[in-house]
Amino acid sequence: MLTYYLFYFVIGLIFGSFANVCIYRIPNDKSVIRPPSSCPSCGERIKWFDNIPLLSFILLKGKCRGCRAQISLRYPLVELLCGIIFLLLAYRFAFEPVLFVYMLFALVLVIISFIDYDYKVIPDFLSAILLLSALSFSVFNYQLGFDFKSRALNSLIGAITASGSLYLLGYAGTKIFKKEAMGDGDVKLMAGVGALLGWQKSLQTLLLASVIGAAFGIYLISSGKINKKDYLPFGPFLSLAAFINFFLPEFWI
Ligand SMILES: [Zn+2]
Repeated sequence: MLTYYLFYFVIGLIFGSFANVCIYRIPNDKSVIRPPSSCPSCGERIKWFDNIPLLSFILLKGKCRGCRAQISLRYPLVELLCGIIFLLLAYRFAFEPVLFVYMLFALVLVIISFIDYDYKVIPDFLSAILLLSALSFSVFNYQLGFDFKSRALNSLIGAITASGSLYLLGYAGTKIFKKEAMGDGDVKLMAGVGALLGWQKSLQTLLLASVIGAAFGIYLISSGKINKKDYLPFGPFLSLAAFINFFLPEFWI
């Protein structure tokens, strides 16, 4: 059992390393496959033995081997985060084929969260990956219903409910606050989340994301870290709330 969990933790670390590349390159329209990673300071190619998730950062004490420039602590943290996420998913969906869909989903959510945090934008094709994988897998997703038909239906209704209600929320918010309250990137993201989780859990996700987002926003404003007028990206909160809902039962809200 320990080997099983260790295996998924290590797989998570490796995909976390890939997530770092995606977070860094996708917003700049660069390929995530080539060229191999290099140091942002000196441009030196990073050798494979210096590119081992988590370990290399610790061994190099967070510095580039060539120029000794500081490497952002975020890289090992994203790797660790993905390791922990894969571990939790392996526990939740042990030996079930759905595990791989949830792993893909969680990984894309991590990438989306950091890109949204950095650039306040959610790339459409990432949301499309979520929607397409969730829809095409829906008939096998026993979490959505008892038979093929009800699963596919719940997935479709989930996508529409989730994105539709977020769109309406954003529309109402824009009218009330007289400024854009919700990006359409969030609406597209929720379509995929709804298709994976079904309509009930996607409403739970919206509710939970709003609570976490509001609490975090109040904390940031009251501690003076951001201004009331600043825009707080919603994608990370939606992603976190969706992930928590992977583990929650359906409550009748
Ligand atoms: Zn360097």
